[in-house]
Amino acid sequence: MDYQRILDEITREAAALSGVGRVASYIPELAKAPPDRFGMALITLDGQVFTTGDASERFSIQSISKVFLLTLAIRQIGEQLFERVGREPSGNPFNSLVQLEYERGIPRNPFINAGALVVTDVLLAQFSNARQEVLEFARHLSACPDLEYDAAVAGSEQASGFTNAALANYLKSHGNLRHRVETVLEVYFHACSLAMSCVELARAFLFLANHGVLPAMGERLLTVSQTKRLNAILLTCGFYDEAGEFAFRVGLPGKSGVGGGIAAVMPGRWAATVWSPEINCYGNSVRGMKALELLTTLTGESIF
Ligand code: GLU
Repeated sequence: MDYQRILDEITREAAALSGVGRVASYIPELAKAPPDRFGMALITLDGQVFTTGDASERFSIQSISKVFLLTLAIRQIGEQLFERVGREPSGNPFNSLVQLEYERGIPRNPFINAGALVVTDVLLAQFSNARQEVLEFARHLSACPDLEYDAAVAGSEQASGFTNAALANYLKSHGNLRHRVETVLEVYFHACSLAMSCVELARAFLFLANHGVLPAMGERLLTVSQTKRLNAILLTCGFYDEAGEFAFRVGLPGKSGVGGGIAAVMPGRWAATVWSPEINCYGNSVRGMKALELLTTLTGESIF
């Protein structure tokens, strides 16, 4: 498969959608992202790296970090996690308070904000320094010891994250948060602020395409069954209330973030990531979705 030629073609075609979405601004620091950027990386299980555009520039991975949080939590407490968070698509905005209220403080899934706050709370119980543990885990997965949290983004979210604070307080009132609201939010905001490039992110997602094993080191991170389940949650819940649209158009497990990144995996073959900061009203990158749709169409590779 000539992945390089395909990525080059995708870059040309996706350019037509430049200017269609809007850079996220509800977190003030994110509004500074350059709207015109477009990068893509595809890494195969045997280590071949294909890139196009701004694939080496770091961006705020935002909700994509929820995949790292969830992986860590599953490694620590396994299925027990699902006593406190569901695994059904939400069909609601990622920060919905309404759903949490009528479901009595049990978030629908680990990829909406309320769910990720519960997962963060689990990590706080498991690790003496959960914030550092998450960072070290991302560094390990991507083989990039110099990954860092973006303090400006974390601070900006801390200062403006009233909805997340409301979600955390509501979880707490239902007894589904064991630690202090401020402590949980602090770790969550930092995880969202992690800055990574498309290449680094694709490498970090490879274990999900490889039945739970980091291909470069042969290290098992999740069991085959846990990996299958995590990929199933990515497919059904990875794109908020646009998960159906992503499955329909792209046909891969994946996760998006409001920074304009998307990471997706083709089990048994590769991981691919794309970054383009202009997002649609659901919080998903406009050019990113188009690029991955073209990738599965032009390669004929998808899970279906
Ligand atoms: N940090 C963002 C928030 O909590 C993440 C949202 C996202 O990327 O979808 O609102």
